Amino acid sequence: MTPDRRTVGFNFLAEPELPAPQVSEKQAEQILLEHYGIQVHAKSLGSQQDRNFTATAADHTVAGVLKIANPAFNATELDAQDLAAELIAAAEPGLRVAVPLPNLAGEKCTAITGLVQGPAYVRLLRYLPGGTLIQSDYLSPTAAAGLGEVAGKVSRALAGFTHPGLDRILQWDLRYGADVVTQLISHVLDPVRRAAIETAADQAWSRIAPLADDLPRQAVHLDLTDANVVVSQDHGRVHADGVIDFGDLTDTWAVAELAITASCVLGHAGSDPASVLPVIRAFNDIRPLSAAEAEALWPLLVLRTAVLIVSGAQQAALDPDNDYVTEQSDGEWRMFEQATSVPIDVMTAVVRADLGLGESPDAIEVTKPLGGATSVVTLDLSTTSDAYDDGRWLTTDLEDELARTAVQDGAGLVVTVHGQPRLNRAPKLGQDSPAVVPTGIDIWPATGTELFAPWDGEVVNTSTDAVTFRGRGYDVTLSGVHSPASGSVRAGDMLAKAPAGQWVRASLRPVGAPEPPAFTTAELAPGWLALTRDPRTLLGLPPVDAPNSADLLSRRDASFAQVQEHYYQLPPQIERGWRNYLLSTSGRCYLDMVNNVTVLGHAHPRVADTAARQLRKLNTNSRFNYEAVVEFSERLAATLPDPLDTVFLVNSGSEASDLAIRLATAATGRRDVVAVREAYHGWTYGTDAVSTSIADNPNALATRPDWVHTVESPNSFRGKYRGVDALRYGAEAVRQIEKLIADGRAPAAFICESVYGNAGGMALPDGYLQQVYAAVRAGGGLAVSDEVQVGYGRLGEWFWGFQQQDAVPDIVSIAKSTGNGYPLGAVITSREVADRFSSQGYFFSSTGGSPLSCAIGLTVLDVLAQEGLQQNASRVGGHLKSRLEALQQRHPIIGTVHGIGLYLGVEMVRDAETLEPATEETAAICDRMLELGVIIQPTGDHLNILKTKPPLCIDIEGADFYVDTLDRVLTEGF
Ligand code: PMP
Repeated sequence: MTPDRRTVGFNFLAEPELPAPQVSEKQAEQILLEHYGIQVHAKSLGSQQDRNFTATAADHTVAGVLKIANPAFNATELDAQDLAAELIAAAEPGLRVAVPLPNLAGEKCTAITGLVQGPAYVRLLRYLPGGTLIQSDYLSPTAAAGLGEVAGKVSRALAGFTHPGLDRILQWDLRYGADVVTQLISHVLDPVRRAAIETAADQAWSRIAPLADDLPRQAVHLDLTDANVVVSQDHGRVHADGVIDFGDLTDTWAVAELAITASCVLGHAGSDPASVLPVIRAFNDIRPLSAAEAEALWPLLVLRTAVLIVSGAQQAALDPDNDYVTEQSDGEWRMFEQATSVPIDVMTAVVRADLGLGESPDAIEVTKPLGGATSVVTLDLSTTSDAYDDGRWLTTDLEDELARTAVQDGAGLVVTVHGQPRLNRAPKLGQDSPAVVPTGIDIWPATGTELFAPWDGEVVNTSTDAVTFRGRGYDVTLSGVHSPASGSVRAGDMLAKAPAGQWVRASLRPVGAPEPPAFTTAELAPGWLALTRDPRTLLGLPPVDAPNSADLLSRRDASFAQVQEHYYQLPPQIERGWRNYLLSTSGRCYLDMVNNVTVLGHAHPRVADTAARQLRKLNTNSRFNYEAVVEFSERLAATLPDPLDTVFLVNSGSEASDLAIRLATAATGRRDVVAVREAYHGWTYGTDAVSTSIADNPNALATRPDWVHTVESPNSFRGKYRGVDALRYGAEAVRQIEKLIADGRAPAAFICESVYGNAGGMALPDGYLQQVYAAVRAGGGLAVSDEVQVGYGRLGEWFWGFQQQDAVPDIVSIAKSTGNGYPLGAVITSREVADRFSSQGYFFSSTGGSPLSCAIGLTVLDVLAQEGLQQNASRVGGHLKSRLEALQQRHPIIGTVHGIGLYLGVEMVRDAETLEPATEETAAICDRMLELGVIIQPTGDHLNILKTKPPLCIDIEGADFYVDTLDRVLTEGF
């Protein structure tokens, strides 16, 4: 660097103090009147070195932003900035840009004397409404990617731009970052912080300097941060699309643009170094990084955060009354801490891996294996390992237990797998990504074992229970050993003694690579694994290939009809479940708040055992004579009031409700069916016809066949009648049914969920079912209660939803819970209705009512009762609902909390008066909840309700974790 050279523009290193010009709002208003001919109200805005004002007219429209440049900058520099803004605006029509607006004389820049020392250069810039991201606590990956996209577009547009006004030395130009830190560090008063900043800046610079000549230069905005990128708001989802403040435009390393943009993400709540990746990815998609740029990026980012702190400290000393400067410092310190929380080389490796620039490591040859055991057993601790069945992933010391068992079974040496996420190390509930990926391996020798130097080399470090050996450019660290070795060692010499029946941890890394933590997170794993090697090589063992889950979604898209959507844009790969938890292949445990199907909880051992036993014995069909079909039918019928005593067995909710409709048409000889709007009953031809939820099918209402008649959705929260008025829904439905009867189209059936599941678990208005059932029956029709979602104990107080309404239907359709995830549905009706179905021939379903289905169905009923899950739904559900209602008091976005027991719906609104559904917000909330370890999804016609219906085994701790996490999301933003 040549900091003392002459520049066309400003030279920070020659003139480091840059207090903002002192101009009052009154003076600004005068300038605007005199030079721009507008009478406006001027309001001062924060700025570190210029003076900015918004110019607002009497009708509240903003005429622009008046910018009075710091007198240290000259007209040539400002001209470059104005031209750059115009160039970007022309080149990137998708971006909004704060271009200069002409004054009364038609000029972009107004020179005013007498305001500051020398001429004051004043411009009125286009005002971009929408605000910036600096106000958001939390930045979503999408918002972060938006910043990267804007930076990429600006970089692309400015690539060929040259101007003498770019020749300047700014403190923000990272080419001078190390000099800036040196010059300003004394302003940082805390000695601990000062030392940390100096060390980080030195380390960063030692990585950057050797790359400097390989980093392409160009015009760079140099301040495209969350403060200078303006967003368009789309109901909770922000889209970055505007650029302001070209004051730091300069000619420097192109990659500095990205480093500066990316760094600002680290100032936001909940961010960590990996949160920067979406910014980098988005930038790289538009303006690909070279290998040298990817290598320089993280050091530049670290340097940027150091520069920010020292500059802020200097500015605070210089301008103690500038609130803007002091307010920023906490966020800046957070950025620095995050940027330096992981070694630079690790983050560089993370970035390189993310951009597909990672390289496979060279093969490592050993002269003599570290250990010479025969019969080596590799423990599989991945999420799919059978060792975790029956909840054993939660066992403390599971690894020890498994190793001991393997030794008992004859293993000479038990080893683990490098880089394999270990589910057993994940906590059940946690908002942070857990450290589960091992950077080394564990070795468990069956007998006391000697470990040998794999090459000639030397012992570089020993302690009471560890040794580090260096040879062939690698460091081997063994911990949990006793090592008598020291100094030079020859291949095959004894390095350490490993005790029998205890773990020895081995790690292997190239000399100079940072010492890895034993375990790291899935996000940082690509970095740490790139800087370590698989120690299995030292034992002469082949590496264990990691399963490739990266292309699972594309394989799914290629083979599985895409109309069968998946949750989340980038879903975790879930390969295991346990109780109310879902477990991903990256070793994360998620709280499952959505799976109502698995009433008993995931992977219930009794269901699994029942299935396995029955499959070994018999699985035929209900035309044969076996006990299970009888017993299950009896047990189901016993849960229902008279006259519901006759059972049909099918495989799904759609089949059950479809059969219910067919039973009604057969029994009555009629064809018309009445359904409520906003409902879902299934995918079959018949159930689809009576499903009108526009969330499932946007054209549902317009495409009903003529035999389907819909009544108003009895939605007491946002429907036609609300609150006490909701009682009118019943009367209105009755009138419609009476009219159908009078018109000679008396319906065969009325079908409805007995608690309005699809609307978020809303109770029907009091008396609704009694009134409507009576009207249908008066015309000779039948009442069908779809209990697929709400029945089977979920409501806590009642086993069946219709009991909440004190009504008894003629036909009940059930599924989902019935098989705890195994396909099993049923229709229960009276003997009379069932018998009349014979007019349609006979009924048979090949697997409906199979021995397996019935055995599982019986086990589910047993466990439900034995584990007191209906009571648990009442207890935990009551607690959950009251906590959610308390949350509602603090977060206006929660419009209401629907539901009973463990069928709850948290309905999100934009406005408590209009009840405008907060649809996009709800989707964003679900995405953020996933990041924090909770699986929850939207429901309802407007997809603005968090469908809160976990397995019934959820405990208070899980319920609290859900509420606390939702609280955090609503507080920090989403
Ligand atoms: N009825 C209701 C109320 C449902 O919620 C569903 C499924 N969401 C069905 C029927 C259809 O069940 P299945 O998916 O098992 O066919």
